[in-house]
Amino acid sequence: MKPFAYLRARSADEAVQESAARPDAVFLAGGTNLVDLMKLGVEAPELLIDISRLPLDQVADTADGGLRIGATARNSDLAAHPAVRTRYPVLSQALLSGASGQLRNTATTGGNLLQRTRCPYFQDTSKPCNKREPGTGCPARDSAQRDLAVLGHSEHCVATHPSDMAVALSALDATVRLHGPDGERTVSATTFHRLPGDTPDRDTEIRPGELITEVVLPPSPDGAASVYRKARDRASFAFALASVAAVLSVRAGRIEHAALAFGGLAHRPWRAHAAEDVLRGAPATDETFERAVDAELTAARPLRDNAFKVGLARNLAVDALAELAADS
Ligand SMILES: Cc1cc2nc3c(=O)[nH]c(=O)nc-3n(C[C@H](O)[C@H](O)[C@H](O)COP(=O)(O)OP(=O)(O)OC[C@H]3O[C@@H](n4cnc5c(N)ncnc54)[C@H](O)[C@@H]3O)c2cc1C
Ligand code: SF4
Repeated sequence: MKPFAYLRARSADEAVQESAARPDAVFLAGGTNLVDLMKLGVEAPELLIDISRLPLDQVADTADGGLRIGATARNSDLAAHPAVRTRYPVLSQALLSGASGQLRNTATTGGNLLQRTRCPYFQDTSKPCNKREPGTGCPARDSAQRDLAVLGHSEHCVATHPSDMAVALSALDATVRLHGPDGERTVSATTFHRLPGDTPDRDTEIRPGELITEVVLPPSPDGAASVYRKARDRASFAFALASVAAVLSVRAGRIEHAALAFGGLAHRPWRAHAAEDVLRGAPATDETFERAVDAELTAARPLRDNAFKVGLARNLAVDALAELAADS
């Protein structure tokens, strides 16, 4: 491993200032992804700015009935938080479907959002990869890998985003608060992650030196229920082949509010706007759910070995919506 310097930040301001002064610095939170990538030689920072002890681990109600989640709140604490379990079950379920108990005890909200793809070519420095080294190529595109994108990919990158939590945050219309050298700003969780286009080396809209300070959830819509469903090769310790986060409210048999996001299908959590357009105001029936999900997945462009993901995602989403409608 390449030698690096270490600094424990005493405040968010100090972390941001140090990061701005050192373009070769990275923030260290739980370290469960960053340290692995350093061992593989994918990341080689000169300076680690440890943010894990900053007082950013609180989970608290907002004045309007939403929830404020600190960037260093641990995934296990967040999943177990009473407000998350009762008002945002899709978030609790998404977190609990990820990684393992030990990892969730260490992994943080900010780190989870910024974890890198598990594309094996990205993690293998002996192979070309446009995300790791722009312009070198994308060997995954013609490979036998099953875990690649079916939506929104480009000729330059076909990787998927691994986070389960991020999929739930998109369906919940969360926002991400950033603190950077130029001040503070807020980005929607749905547009925080990017599609690859011709710059797959950029996973997100975050700017150099910016620190995620918190994630804010709006109030849960009146009468809404929510659920996260994930299909994977093993029952634990495995990333999603396909997953869905669904939020639904039904009144007098008609859908009032619907939000749907897919995981495991694209370079970012895939907010299903076309499906939501079909769902809103329609009768809460299986026929509506199937029509809505098909309207979204018609955009799918499977690669050599991953067409199965489209059917898998369809079944997960239709079942999740039907389950929520039956409970409402
Ligand atoms: C075996 C294994 C299985 C896993 N399975 C799953 C799974 O099924 N689903 C899933 O969702 N995840 C899974 N994970 C990933 C795990 O959830 C992430 O590793 C974890 O969430 C990262 O959080 P961290 O705090 O450890 O981040 P770190 O490793 O510390 O950081 C990750 C990145 O985020 C940056 N960063 C961290 N915090 C901030 C911040 N506040 N502001 C700006 N930048 C920041 C760091 O600089 C780094 O680039 C798995 C991990 C492993 C090792
Ligand atoms: S899919 Fe993306 S991450 Fe994987 S090899 Fe291609 S460019 Fe690299």
